[in-house]
Amino acid sequence: MQIAVLGAGVIGLASAYYLNRAGHQVIVVDRHVDVAAETSFGNGGQLSYSYVAPLAGPGVLSKLPAWLARRDSPVRFRPTVSAEQWLWCLKFAFACTQRRSNLTTRELLSLSFASRALMHQLLCDEPTLDFDFQHSGKLVLHRDVAAMQGAINLLDYQRSLGCDQEALSADECVALEPALANVCGRIVGGIYTRSEDTADCHRFSKGLEAILRARGVQFAMNTRIDALEVAKGGAIVARSGGGTLEADHVVVAAGTSAAHLLQPLGIHVPVYPLKGYSLTYSLGPQAIAPTLSVTDFARKVVYARLGDRLRVAGMADLDGYSLKPDPSRVAALRAEAAALFPQAVADHVDATAWTGLRPATPRGTPIIGPTRYSNLWLNIGHGALGFTLASGSAALLTGWIDGKPDSSLSSLFSLA
Ligand SMILES: Cc1cc2nc3c(=O)[nH]c(=O)nc-3n(C[C@H](O)[C@H](O)[C@H](O)COP(=O)(O)OP(=O)(O)OC[C@H]3O[C@@H](n4cnc5c(N)ncnc54)[C@H](O)[C@@H]3O)c2cc1C
Repeated sequence: MQIAVLGAGVIGLASAYYLNRAGHQVIVVDRHVDVAAETSFGNGGQLSYSYVAPLAGPGVLSKLPAWLARRDSPVRFRPTVSAEQWLWCLKFAFACTQRRSNLTTRELLSLSFASRALMHQLLCDEPTLDFDFQHSGKLVLHRDVAAMQGAINLLDYQRSLGCDQEALSADECVALEPALANVCGRIVGGIYTRSEDTADCHRFSKGLEAILRARGVQFAMNTRIDALEVAKGGAIVARSGGGTLEADHVVVAAGTSAAHLLQPLGIHVPVYPLKGYSLTYSLGPQAIAPTLSVTDFARKVVYARLGDRLRVAGMADLDGYSLKPDPSRVAALRAEAAALFPQAVADHVDATAWTGLRPATPRGTPIIGPTRYSNLWLNIGHGALGFTLASGSAALLTGWIDGKPDSSLSSLFSLA
């Protein structure tokens, strides 16, 4: 079958990879000249298989007033006149219960564990892939006793779902990651997960593109999809530049643009942008930088070592579709990095700053699978976890299109 994948981010490229391996002819379409030019470009580099708890958690609504009052807060909300934004917020508020959060965590863990196995298999199957991949392990730091206790409680729940994690004291954290020596007095402890990985999502995407091209997958880059339309017979066709894209099936993997592409077809998906920022520091020979993946839980900032670079990422701003960076947010992220790892980043005034829009759903679960149109498929809404979940999501989508969806996952992520 000829399948058009709309979107050459990490989700579209992974979809193309598994569809091609299943024997389909694939064409990947994107409005940019290069692959992974939007959200998959500069993300946090975390393959965070055990840290999938959604932003919509039980404590979030009570923390919001404090977060919204602070300029350097990890979460920011700028109301717009868009009904789309308000509806998303309403659904998010309803998802902020312990029960919903536990359910989402359980569902996402099943997809992330499948993704981890597939990613590790991919590393064996495609030895040419070179993307700063490391079995780094992950340390989530806590700055106060209450937060640490909450993490220990969650650890028990996560253990029951198959996560292998341990609670460490502040001294044990520093023993594991000596680059934290300066901040030992400011943390109370951390949760260590040996099985987490880190890698560069953009390099991964470029590597996949090269593999796909070598396998005969076509790329229509610099090609904007103007609309999806219902053709005679009820099949969906993609229109671009006055022409129609030839394909038996269409996969929408268009990140934050998915909702607007699908809405004219009467398909309403709650995918809305959550803006985030990253900084990439080149590390000099004297830099004392972490080798472990580190998350500063209170500040919601992640740190990943990507070869001789340090990637720092964070912030979740609900303020519409604009990619325009806010200098005060970049400065806040820079200050966080300098405070936690002064000997790695303090002198680096010129770290490369980047802004991206997470394609977020209110609950935090992606939407993968069929639509009411028999040849239209979705792989969208991966929020803060698109790199982590790319392989499992793509394999699940391929199963759907081939008529044999994974029975344990298919109903969890398909459009209700
Ligand atoms: C600051 C930040 C940090 C993050 N950190 C992590 C992390 O550590 N780990 C993790 O797993 N995830 C992380 N994420 C999330 C992750 O980056 C995203 O979930 C993922 O990149 C989404 O991939 P995607 O392919 O769905 O979207 P995108 O990468 O945005 O790709 C969508 C593509 O569709 C194309 N497109 C859209 N509309 C059209 C159209 N009409 N015509 C043609 N082409 C079109 C776009 O050009 C784009 O290339 C982070 C995100 C941010 C912002």
